[in-house]
Amino acid sequence: MTTLFVAKESRDGETRCAATPETVGRYVKRGFKVLVQAGAGEAANYRDADFSDSGAEIISDFATGCTQTDLVLKVARPTVEEAGLMKKGSLVVSFLQAVQDPESAKALFGAGVGSFAMELVPRTTLAQKMDALSSQANIAGYKAVLLAACELGRYFPLLMTAAGTVKPARVVIFGVGVAGLQAIATAKRLGAIVEATDIRPEVKEQVESLGGKFIEVKSDEDGEEASVYAKEASDDYKKRQAEAVTASVAAANVVITTAQVPGKRAPMLVPDSMIAQMQNGAVIVDLAVEQGGNVEGSEVGKIVVRHGVHIVGTPNLPATVPQHATDLYARNVQHVVDHIVPKKENDDLELRLDMEDEIIAGSIAFLNGDVRHAPTAEALNLEVAKS
Ligand code: NAD
Repeated sequence: MTTLFVAKESRDGETRCAATPETVGRYVKRGFKVLVQAGAGEAANYRDADFSDSGAEIISDFATGCTQTDLVLKVARPTVEEAGLMKKGSLVVSFLQAVQDPESAKALFGAGVGSFAMELVPRTTLAQKMDALSSQANIAGYKAVLLAACELGRYFPLLMTAAGTVKPARVVIFGVGVAGLQAIATAKRLGAIVEATDIRPEVKEQVESLGGKFIEVKSDEDGEEASVYAKEASDDYKKRQAEAVTASVAAANVVITTAQVPGKRAPMLVPDSMIAQMQNGAVIVDLAVEQGGNVEGSEVGKIVVRHGVHIVGTPNLPATVPQHATDLYARNVQHVVDHIVPKKENDDLELRLDMEDEIIAGSIAFLNGDVRHAPTAEALNLEVAKS
């Protein structure tokens, strides 16, 4: 196995690419033959000529590329049509999102194609370089603030001008994971007053270190062991959270919601009753809109106006910053390839999917006609492989 195929993304709005001329150069240096589908990097400002200069061969279409390789690199989950063109027994490194889009995942499984699912990469120190959820969430958090600033009919910073003093914007952020932290940092850089809340009280220090104020929610669950992962909130917690944030949300010019619970529908945090108390012209950006939404009434791809509040539901925010999203995702993928085709003394390139390896075992959704990941099996109504 020495050939890699970098596919051009076919889904609407997907501007990212799974490789850059830089990562292609690294693959070529290791001895891989790299095929890049024509136009694959165009939307991320990388021309076919840039890839050829790094040693890639440009292939005209997806089907031709797939016939020549066992390892396909992509960003978005393959479509049903793409799955039908892929070689049985080949492996695709890409997002899979089986819970969100079981139809596409089922088609891939049905075609006998293996899946290394980028969203399943364990959140461990060892796997950090491969963690595309983090690299892309960082971009989403940044862009959410910029979208809010553009939609808001007000300044973000405090300004003292001859014509009068402008008060700084007040921003409230729900969910202080990777996206939320970057949203806090970006809103602070623009001069806003920022408050944030999260079900994990241990993020308080991180919020404060970025200059934000943490909205504490008193809860019986406080005594629980801290975890980097959120659990679904109880009804009691949700009630207390709503009480704690209502005054801040009512005073806010901007609310950004980033709350997610791995493997579950995003929690509903901003109900209609809370929106009704917000200021006329305030803006909410719902980063979880594709996972069911944190905000009542948010719609994918739309700006919905409710009680005078503009609710922005732009999907796939990382794809709206295509060049840097591509640069970071492509490096995540390159580290995956280095991990599954490990360096050997004799420089032989061999795909080695060692299921004893924590990163590989955690990230493989399908392999050799088996489903290896329990939540994926559940989403597709299939049996998970025993070993
Ligand atoms: P995520 O996208 O799954 O969720 C975003 C945030 O929403 C989380 O902070 C979560 O606690 C919060 N949330 C969930 N339900 C909520 C509710 N009802 N109310 C308020 N907030 C709610 O999270 P993420 O960005 O993927 O990161 C989760 C954590 O994992 C972070 O602490 C991050 O720093 C950590 N992390 C660690 C590593 C690593 O160690 N390699 C890598 C990535 C992330």
